[in-house]
Amino acid sequence: MIYFDNAATTPLDTEVYEYMCTIMKEQYGNPSSVHALGRSSKVLIEDSRSLIAGLLKVQPSEIYFTSTATEAITTAIFGLIRKSGIRRIITSAIEHHAVQHAIDFVHKIYPLQLSFVRLDKNANPDLEHLEDLLTENPSSLVILMHANNETGSVFPINSISKICKHYHAPFFSDMVQSMGKYENDLSDNGPDITCCSAHKLHGPKGVGFLYLSKNVSISPLITGGGQERNMRSGTENIYGIAGMAKAFEIAYRDMKKNREHITKLKNYFADKLKSNFPELIFNAQNDTKGLYNLINFSVPDVYKNKMLLEKLDMQQIAVSGGSACNSGVVKASHVLEALNADTNIPALRFSFSKYNTFEELDFSIEALKKLLFKN
Ligand code: PLP
Repeated sequence: MIYFDNAATTPLDTEVYEYMCTIMKEQYGNPSSVHALGRSSKVLIEDSRSLIAGLLKVQPSEIYFTSTATEAITTAIFGLIRKSGIRRIITSAIEHHAVQHAIDFVHKIYPLQLSFVRLDKNANPDLEHLEDLLTENPSSLVILMHANNETGSVFPINSISKICKHYHAPFFSDMVQSMGKYENDLSDNGPDITCCSAHKLHGPKGVGFLYLSKNVSISPLITGGGQERNMRSGTENIYGIAGMAKAFEIAYRDMKKNREHITKLKNYFADKLKSNFPELIFNAQNDTKGLYNLINFSVPDVYKNKMLLEKLDMQQIAVSGGSACNSGVVKASHVLEALNADTNIPALRFSFSKYNTFEELDFSIEALKKLLFKN
């Protein structure tokens, strides 16, 4: 199988796999137990926390391990609205459903005012509009993602963070798609709150974290035994946490090399697409500004464009038609709709990783040539 669906999830890195196998065999103590086996599991968790915090340039005490990013997102939004008394959320129309549905969830409980920052068709946010919204009501929670999972468009989170700090508005940015791809120094004009899912950076599934700056205080979503300093109870997923830390270590160690390789793949593929299929419509592609591993394009009716995902799948090429979490359900993408793209025609998302090769791209272009002939 040729795997071009890395925005949905990534294959586990072999180094991570081997590290986790050793831990699974040897490290079974409950981190809350006081005996040596428990203490050793506790040390493993704290070492993992320190490693991740060090790479993001924050304090270990600001990292809370969760299951996936979805849990971190729900905890953050629900916990902040509950604790802070803030009743206005400023967000965008292209956030992931994990964020949108968490907002809907709190909206059912608290009387919230929702405002949406204007975006242009390339998903650039209007920062003056954000300032206007904050001037009207500085006591707002701002929720704007870093990199969009469908189009790869990237919001300027450092500029957004500066604006939010000026108005003393807490800023939550979903950084699921950019973690491990960029250095993401959170100490310097980063968001106050962010989240991560390890499976997006060649780590294991079912583990992630919430970063909560020490300046922000929220109520926990899950209560119980008081693990994670009362922020997220439940016996810790030590294998997942250690695997995630290993995935981070590898991602930062090899970042420059991987970024160069993947950028070349993307540029090569984009050039081939443009020269072979000049009528394709590239969605929110800001050339150098977008995620370097993702391409999203719509296929207009001048081409035979029915059942493309299925036909590519039959050629052993795995791509996505939109948000991975929607796969299996044919539904217009809320992201493309918000960007005024034509959602009556199919869109394809190719997302690359360090494991992809130029041969795979050539094979895919040949496959597309067989599929996308003109009507
Ligand atoms: N946010 C973004 C931008 C994502 O791409 C995803 C997953 O696709 C999520 C949040 C949710 O991540 P998870 O399903 O691992 O909780």
